[in-house]
Amino acid sequence: MTAESGSHPFPLVGIGTDVHAFADGRALWLAGLLWPDETGLAGHSDADVAAHALCDALLSAAGLGDLGSVFGTDDPAWSQASGVSLLSHSAALVREAGYVIGNASVQVIGNRPRVGSRRQEAQDVLSAAVGAPVRVSGTTTDGLGLTGRGEGLAAIAVASVQPA
Ligand code: MG
Repeated sequence: MTAESGSHPFPLVGIGTDVHAFADGRALWLAGLLWPDETGLAGHSDADVAAHALCDALLSAAGLGDLGSVFGTDDPAWSQASGVSLLSHSAALVREAGYVIGNASVQVIGNRPRVGSRRQEAQDVLSAAVGAPVRVSGTTTDGLGLTGRGEGLAAIAVASVQPA
């Protein structure tokens, strides 16, 4: 797939979401960072919801589908990949398809950890993976829903791209 032909007056945006359940005995990887002394998330990969949501946002902005269609949920080559490595590979695919990445933003939804406590560190890691500015924010849900009950973490991301 290639970028749309002709000039496009606006950035193309994409959206991505991800959810993983907490799991005992797992290290927590979130927003590209290891969070010591926090409960980890279940998943074949490192279950980094922020990185995975950003992958889907980038891929959808470029019209490339989603994590499942690009990497394959059953593909052993990718099942152990870190969220950050999936993210850098997604960004490379977007550029190969003929797009420049403008920026991306991800919001982590959950009770803990508070991503704002390590915001700059997370933004630095994720921005390096994407090759464009990535912003990180967080919110809670007033005790409601799966994140409010402390069952897991969710993330929502957006990204903008333009034909090169
Ligand atoms: Mg995921």
